[in-house]
Amino acid sequence: MLIWLFFIVFLQKFYTVMKIETVKKSAHQIMSVYGSDNYEQRLDTIALDNEICIKIVDKYNRIIFSDDDNMGGSCLIHGFSDISQYIHLIHESPDGNVYYKIYNAKICSDTLLWGSVLKDESGNITGYLLINSTLEPVNSTVDTLKALLIAITAVLLIAGIFIAFIISDGILGPLEKITQNADKLAKGQYDVKFDGGVYSETTMLANTLNYAAGEISKIDTIQRDLIANVSHDLRTPLTMVKAYAEMIRDLSGDNPAKRNEHLGIIIEETDRLALLVSDMLDLSKLESGGQKLNISEFDISETLSDIIARYKGIYEEKGYIINFEPDSERFVKCDIVKIEQVIYNLINNAINYTGDDKNIFVKQINQSDGVTIEIRDTGKGIAEEDLKIIFDKYYRAEKTKRETVGTGLGLSIVKAILKKHNFPYGVKSVVNEGSVFWFKIVSAPPDKKV
Ligand code: ADP
Repeated sequence: MLIWLFFIVFLQKFYTVMKIETVKKSAHQIMSVYGSDNYEQRLDTIALDNEICIKIVDKYNRIIFSDDDNMGGSCLIHGFSDISQYIHLIHESPDGNVYYKIYNAKICSDTLLWGSVLKDESGNITGYLLINSTLEPVNSTVDTLKALLIAITAVLLIAGIFIAFIISDGILGPLEKITQNADKLAKGQYDVKFDGGVYSETTMLANTLNYAAGEISKIDTIQRDLIANVSHDLRTPLTMVKAYAEMIRDLSGDNPAKRNEHLGIIIEETDRLALLVSDMLDLSKLESGGQKLNISEFDISETLSDIIARYKGIYEEKGYIINFEPDSERFVKCDIVKIEQVIYNLINNAINYTGDDKNIFVKQINQSDGVTIEIRDTGKGIAEEDLKIIFDKYYRAEKTKRETVGTGLGLSIVKAILKKHNFPYGVKSVVNEGSVFWFKIVSAPPDKKV
């Protein structure tokens, strides 16, 4: 449409403006050449080059220069009209230049008539310059262009309809299927597969939706697991609380020693409940990606000795020997609160599962690309087949006498935190000799995939 508008409406106007400019330039050129040696020959060339007719007359209307008629005998200034009327108009014009668009009936077309006053060095009028140029080529050009344009439009229209049909078929088909499947996904059918067809735009959309479906399904499974585990894990302590409360009511209410023992158990079980709930919340937040890491820089050696000092205060009385092998000061970048939680969970486990010598070893190993932290115990170790699943949720070996309260979620939280940081971790264990849990705070962790 724009091309049509420009060609049909504006081309004529644009052409006229250009032509006036050309004639104006020619006029200046003529005036600068006029009077020099061989000027007649040079004016002829200008006339030919610019397709104009030139006539110069003196102030008494006598011809000084006239080129051959370049308009096939139909030029206004050479042929049929009286030029004295134009000379008058030029003379009257304020700046000595005039131009008119005059219809030439002989050639049935508009022509351009230009006139300029010629002066000598002292400003006296010596004559007049007249230029006539046809505007006729425009019409023939427009006609040719119009014909071309119609042909191009027809070809484009047919090609356009054809291409649009192919593209819409290739895009609309997959889009319709994607929409249907998205509806199914919204209704909870997470195993739908999105197919994007052949176009990269729809394939990209389908891939993104497949990814989204996968993630939604994962979150859904986590949620289901959590509810199943929560109800299972909450039932045991709640049954205990209920049983002991009933015992106090029915039996031990009047016996202070028994009552206190039973109340102690109730308090322990409620502590376990509280811890379980907060661990579950932490884990679900970590696994759903809802928690952001709060990265800061701190000295890991100092953090480790602070943590161990706290443990020593509580556990040395009970005979536990917590050995710390520090390395030199080293600043690391990570979420200090979460990494402390990893260390706490691992030390708690070591205390729970260490051997009769009650020894626990914490070691800091500075390396060129990070710091490895090892927590070792001398317990009965972990069987080969259990090593693979030890970091999974709710995995628990048979009940042991525990010093710290455990929920079966400790190592899953360790795993979730370290994975979020992109830090490597692992466990080595020899049955009946003990286990070493380790993780490494890498100096520049590789970029995590979001
Ligand atoms: P919890 O300790 O609360 O049971 P965890 O997730 O921390 O839960 O540990 C899961 C299981 O891994 C434990 O129940 C135990 O069987 C085993 N485990 C963890 N740490 C050790 C260790 N240091 N030595 C032996 N077994 C361990």
